[in-house]
Amino acid sequence: MRKGIIVQKFGGTSVANPERIIGVAKRVAATKKKGYDVVVVVSALGGTTDELVDLAGRISKNPAEREMDMLLATGEQVSVALLAMALHELKQEAISLTGAQVGIVTDSSHTKARILDVSTQKLRKELRVGKVVIVAGFQGVNLDQEITTLGRGGSDMTAVALAKVLKAKMCEIYTDVKGVYTADPRIVKDARKLDSISYEEMLELASLGAKVMQARSMEVAGKFNVPMHVRSSFSKKKGTLITKEVRAMEDVLVRGVTAKKDEAKVTICDVPDKPGEASRIFELLAKADINVDMIVQNISRTKATDISFTVPNSDLKKTQEVVQKVIKTIGAKAVTYNKSIAKLSVVGIGMRSHSGVAAKMFKALAAKKVNIEMISTSEIKISCVIQKKDADKAVKAVHKSFGLEKKPKK
Ligand code: ASP
Ligand code: MG
Repeated sequence: MRKGIIVQKFGGTSVANPERIIGVAKRVAATKKKGYDVVVVVSALGGTTDELVDLAGRISKNPAEREMDMLLATGEQVSVALLAMALHELKQEAISLTGAQVGIVTDSSHTKARILDVSTQKLRKELRVGKVVIVAGFQGVNLDQEITTLGRGGSDMTAVALAKVLKAKMCEIYTDVKGVYTADPRIVKDARKLDSISYEEMLELASLGAKVMQARSMEVAGKFNVPMHVRSSFSKKKGTLITKEVRAMEDVLVRGVTAKKDEAKVTICDVPDKPGEASRIFELLAKADINVDMIVQNISRTKATDISFTVPNSDLKKTQEVVQKVIKTIGAKAVTYNKSIAKLSVVGIGMRSHSGVAAKMFKALAAKKVNIEMISTSEIKISCVIQKKDADKAVKAVHKSFGLEKKPKK
């Protein structure tokens, strides 16, 4: 009797060299021996995708997105083939497949495609004859047979999507850290590994700078309740379970602290204070496909007001082009751009039912003389824009003020 399907995803550092690939093969083979059917998803060998992006950049400042996908999808094709060979060496039957061969069908938005459908036919056929199936992460194919990729970190999405359609018992994400932490352990020495976290919290933390999981994959995992386990590929220890929210999770005020350092703040000064101006600015930014994040508008004591917002650094050039045009049409006086900011956030579903979280966060920042430039809140998060140079000290201070280094009683 087979025990069911397990999806195991290995990130770039887990397959960075031949020794590690052999290590991964051993782990996969052991899981198979326990009686599970195993579907493996792998990222490109560590650093490969960045190298490919860099290579393209040396040829073209503005490469066609279709060709970027052709290029980037090669990384994962290397790692799946090598892992299949490593499994063969262990006398474990295995087959590697590209996204297209599996039938991972996406829309056509090259470099950030969304999965529309995953065919299980081929996967099931190979599993049935006892093979480990190794699927190239991060890639799919659109209805015109064009290769697409799922956005950086997209192998997580591949793993979640496969776990969902195969109704896997578990979707294991193997990485170079022991799990999900209360803060980046490289910054906060006593950051604690979490035993569990809710989908919603993981989604927020990932969107707000925690690199351990691709944010988009967490939306899908949460929507379909895909059971997930983030754990180290270098140890057998349990990592962090990502699960449905349970009642006890609400007793914890803040699950984690994070800082995002790749956004810029744009301030348009002296925007005429009358209906329609904000709409004009943000409509044009949206049309240019710019991902605007925090927006703050002040009261105006005169007939004009200042509007500030943040955008990803990668969108700053496009933003500047749009904004320069806009300020002329609306008659705003000036605009400033600031790249030396960081967005500091605390996340926790406990905020829904507890008050005073913001006050506590601001107090911790004040004690360290960290100035807050913008604030935004949602039901389960509070974010502050601060100076980038203050980011690490702010993360440490806030982590401490919420006592995150201590294990909660429940
Ligand atoms: N190789 C791709 C990247 O580096 C996808 C992934 O690793 O998840 O973004
Ligand atoms: Mg990753």
